[in-house]
Amino acid sequence: MGIQLTFLGTSCSTPTKERNLSSVALGFRGEWFLFDTPEGIQQQLMRTRLSHFTLEHIFLSHYHADHTLGLPGIIATMTIHERKQPLYVWGPKGIETKLKQGIGYADFFPGFEVIPKEIREGVLIDTETYTISAVKLNHSCLCYGFIFETKGKKGTFMREKALKLKIPEGPLWGKLQKGETITHAGKKFTPEMVMDYGAGKRGTKIGFVMDTFPHAHYVDAMRGSDVLIHEASFLESEKERAWDVKHSTAKMAAEVARKLGVKQLFITHFSPRYPDGKDMLAEAKPIFKNTIAAHDLMKVELEESHPNEKKKPKAKKK
Ligand SMILES: [Zn+2]
Ligand SMILES: [Zn+2]
Repeated sequence: MGIQLTFLGTSCSTPTKERNLSSVALGFRGEWFLFDTPEGIQQQLMRTRLSHFTLEHIFLSHYHADHTLGLPGIIATMTIHERKQPLYVWGPKGIETKLKQGIGYADFFPGFEVIPKEIREGVLIDTETYTISAVKLNHSCLCYGFIFETKGKKGTFMREKALKLKIPEGPLWGKLQKGETITHAGKKFTPEMVMDYGAGKRGTKIGFVMDTFPHAHYVDAMRGSDVLIHEASFLESEKERAWDVKHSTAKMAAEVARKLGVKQLFITHFSPRYPDGKDMLAEAKPIFKNTIAAHDLMKVELEESHPNEKKKPKAKKK
């Protein structure tokens, strides 16, 4: 199964002949999520196996044109293709008005429910198997980064032990698996009595950081990430410009990855003056070795969970 990332575009500000504007799709257990909808997004999606019929949630990091102009188009196509199920569109403050304006400008009526959801910091979606949360970035307008995290597996339920303890099969087993202490036949049973937590697996955490100048606030929220997708609009030679327009250089993105200790960094959102991310990669690699420069339609498969790291025994003091 796993998690699938697809980079639908890697350019910033304007598309180039070779690259579309930045957007990322994330697939997990039959669902998929779209982060930003720049113009050209529909054709990029057609080049993948992602169908807009199965898309339920769109997340807009901010309202700058290079991240949003494809939204009315994709909703119009869904209408033409007679979509019926609702679509949730998450955006910063003002999403309801922005959606109305976008659809109004394009002069059509969606044939299904388009539900605006205002992004606030914290958890946006919480299911049995994953969460999606938002954190403020440091851009020239209100802009959010996103964190996708799978829940992993807390441990293995030891059926034989439960039977031996004469805990009847049923809802009580479920409670213990969820980590609750139960009382049965006047006796207390703690989850530790029937769960092997050593066999648990921790989830995978992925940070999405589009338009921003580095800031401790979002770095803190992304601690423990396995994978970081970070914008790298410029090279360090343009760091003053990066500060002025609140974007990052490749070096800055690599420094964030190093600080977080992630396993893998993907840089994207490259200025259109560069044909690809090669120069950015050359700048980032000496600071953070596991850097990959994304390219359009690049697909990445990630594990959805990892074995719990065994704690190293503490070194004895001499
Ligand atoms: Zn941008
Ligand atoms: Zn922007």
